Amino acid sequence: MNRKPLLGKIILKGTIRCMTGLHIGGSDSELAIGGIDSTVIRDPLTQQPYIPGSSLKGKLRCLLERTLDKTFDHPGGSGVYRHECTDPACCVCRLFGSSAATRNGEENNLPARIMVRDSHLTSGSLEKLEKVEGGLPFTEWKTENGLDRITCAANPRQIERVPAGAEFAFEVVYSVEATDSLSEDISHVIEMLALLEDDALGGGGSRGNGRIEVTFDKAVFRPRDYYLGKEEETVRELGIAPSSAGKLPEEALAVFAR
Ligand SMILES: [Zn+2]
Repeated sequence: MNRKPLLGKIILKGTIRCMTGLHIGGSDSELAIGGIDSTVIRDPLTQQPYIPGSSLKGKLRCLLERTLDKTFDHPGGSGVYRHECTDPACCVCRLFGSSAATRNGEENNLPARIMVRDSHLTSGSLEKLEKVEGGLPFTEWKTENGLDRITCAANPRQIERVPAGAEFAFEVVYSVEATDSLSEDISHVIEMLALLEDDALGGGGSRGNGRIEVTFDKAVFRPRDYYLGKEEETVRELGIAPSSAGKLPEEALAVFAR
């Protein structure tokens, strides 16, 4: 009989600040808007741009796969290759999930231990961006030129971006399933967010887009007994960069191992 006890949740809340314009592409059906060649993804009800959890999770996974030098032997949807295996000790698949077993006819699928929520603009940023003039709501457009190498003629295209300075509130929820792998998993989340600051989020990173800074605002530890009404949660107010959050994995373990 398979068992997978849930020991509790760790909720990491923080802020992603755009240091340069951020472009996370929307759907092709929006192509016609204002002659923009490449639009950003928006909430259909509020029209506010946001960072899909899938984009942030995918980026963190990709960075961890490369940092740990995993093989990209799994062809996912639409021909995108990534790492995916059925080894429960694999740091990447344990954290980000793997459904490789289904395809191999095995039984050990690994559900992701982290959930990355969609990140929405903070109220302060919404207020500022509402005042941006001359374009689409909350965003800027940037003209980029492709140069014809023979004639030197410019071939301009319009890219929509969330402007530099915009801030998004992010939330990563980690399901504690075992204490022996807890610190390593939390370390990896923190390390990959730190690495992301020296990488880029969204499209056009090599052309200046998507430089971000991350701040951890708080960590909330909720052991199983918190949900059963028998124990309080533990809240750590942080206000620090991921590079300064090195003690967090130990603190998490102290809460869940007691
Ligand atoms: Zn794996």
